[in-house]
Amino acid sequence: MNALNLRDIRTLDMKLSQASSPAIVTHMKPDGDAIGSSTAMYHVLRLYGKTCKVVISDRFPSNLEFIADTIPHDDLIIYEDDPQVAEDTLAASDLIICLDFNAFHRTDKLENALTASAAEKVLIDHHLSPDTEHFDLIFSETEISSASELLFHILMGLPPIGSDAAKIPADTATSLMTGMTTDTNNFANSVYPSTLTMASALLAVGVDRDMILQNIYNSFGECRMRLMGHILKDLMKITPDGIAYIILDSRTQNDYNVNEGDTEGFVNLPLSIKEVVMSLMLKEDGDRVRVSIRSKKGISANRCARMYFNGGGHENAAGGRLYIGKEIESIADAGAYIEKYTHIFMSEDNEN
Ligand code: 5GP
Ligand code: MN
Repeated sequence: MNALNLRDIRTLDMKLSQASSPAIVTHMKPDGDAIGSSTAMYHVLRLYGKTCKVVISDRFPSNLEFIADTIPHDDLIIYEDDPQVAEDTLAASDLIICLDFNAFHRTDKLENALTASAAEKVLIDHHLSPDTEHFDLIFSETEISSASELLFHILMGLPPIGSDAAKIPADTATSLMTGMTTDTNNFANSVYPSTLTMASALLAVGVDRDMILQNIYNSFGECRMRLMGHILKDLMKITPDGIAYIILDSRTQNDYNVNEGDTEGFVNLPLSIKEVVMSLMLKEDGDRVRVSIRSKKGISANRCARMYFNGGGHENAAGGRLYIGKEIESIADAGAYIEKYTHIFMSEDNEN
């Protein structure tokens, strides 16, 4: 990562000190990094004597409840459950801290409220190409594991922490370790020297990594394992270009009683095959199909997501969506769409 700008950290300190009704927002369908960086920031605001609200678009996977539960129930507002409260909260906020996303549309149902808000906005994010004109203060770094890691390095520079990790609130430390662990797929990708510096500092001050791993990886229902078996045996397809894809239609999701988070990580599985260079997982979701893409070095998942799946992300981990009635007529067409466009993609210069 690049060195952080100390003046920006001082500006953040001032904004946190002066805010009277701060709010925290993160991306739709929040993952461990989104929830982890948000709850981590919540407890930092407590250090500044502030209570704040975390506002998210939709519900989060149950394996992240252990960090979400570190903040009072009333301070976590989910638009899907309480749209009016979510909108009113953002409208009443004078400082909005935006974590783990690069553009308002990534917050889905919160986009309009963010666009309408006159609050100062701080961005702390690790995605490519942030929408800079919408933010008053930007911490954007892509050579880093996660937004949680970036937040850790920023926190170390804030006066209440003063480069002493022992002064990081315990719930913040646990949340940051969780976000970094899920975004690196438990140290399998996007690990930088700075990532290990953070992990080492947090372990040294007593973060319970065994408890975190138990919660995030060993607390799923049986249905996840059964579905994984079905995917690996029957659903995974591999094209001659070395593109693996998995399509989970609504029926399969119902048959296996799939909840948000139950399919986390499945998109990575085909990458263990030598010949596979990129893997896609599609999930039917109402009138759209959510797409997750992972690639090996030298193949840009981000570019593929941008070009053919209305999305974007990181170089080797990206996402997007297809609209039923637009790119495809029904989920039954998704396989042919993938085969056609990934073949075109692979015949282009796909370094970036
Ligand atoms: P996932 O497959 O886990 O949903 O997403 C992988 C990565 O791509 C995440 O870092 C996520 O933030 C990013 N991502 C997913 N969908 C989109 C999208 O539509 N646009 C952009 N810019 N990034 C996305
Ligand atoms: Mn992230």
